Amino acid sequence: MDKPSSKKIILAIGAHPDDIDIGSSGSIAKWIKEGAETYYLVLTDGSKGSEDPDIPNAELTKLRRKEQQDAADLLGVKKVFFLDFVDGELENSHQLRKELVRIIRTVKPKTIICFDPTFVYDIQRGFINHPDHRVAGQAALDAVFPFARNMRTYPELLQEGLKSFVVEELLMTNFSESNFYVDISDTIDLKLKAIGCHVSQFQDMEKFQERMKKMNSLNGEKASPKVKYAEGFVRILLHQPS
Ligand SMILES: [Zn+2]
Repeated sequence: MDKPSSKKIILAIGAHPDDIDIGSSGSIAKWIKEGAETYYLVLTDGSKGSEDPDIPNAELTKLRRKEQQDAADLLGVKKVFFLDFVDGELENSHQLRKELVRIIRTVKPKTIICFDPTFVYDIQRGFINHPDHRVAGQAALDAVFPFARNMRTYPELLQEGLKSFVVEELLMTNFSESNFYVDISDTIDLKLKAIGCHVSQFQDMEKFQERMKKMNSLNGEKASPKVKYAEGFVRILLHQPS
């Protein structure tokens, strides 16, 4: 079994280009400034993310990949992995879990940021969570436990030199309930710039950025009266094998 590095290594997993930046790029920017090594993993090709009939799917994928890469570069993310499963068709398959385990064992993250798969809808805001988000969250949890840490799962990965690995911390975004808040007052501007890279996704970017600020400000209030902006997560510190 591989041991985690003493360095803070973070792997953020999203279903579509823009998911990670919306949910957690303020925290990610903060931790990168503090010296963390951070990786993005985008599971789908983003090919359903437009109502414009004149953009071919392949072009949309290319555009969204560039937007995601630009946002990641802005924050100082070390590498973005794109798995290119078809947008809207993500399934918690053997193949997806294996790819997740491969990247977890390669990157060896202390912390994984992913979606909370239990977040299905929000009655008050009239909001249904995207099915790809739920699948991405469930597959990420399954990959963290038990598959990444179990040496008998995917023996072919062992042959590639990818030993079993135990993740220490899970931070899940669910945009509703949280038990852990990160003060992003110093990085909110960087977060808004990262979101601003996803030009294809928002007809009125300024309006969306204002919405984000409001949401992060509400989280700030929940975190502490002294915190102006925060991101909220459901945090699990994972039991380590003795
Ligand atoms: Zn999404």
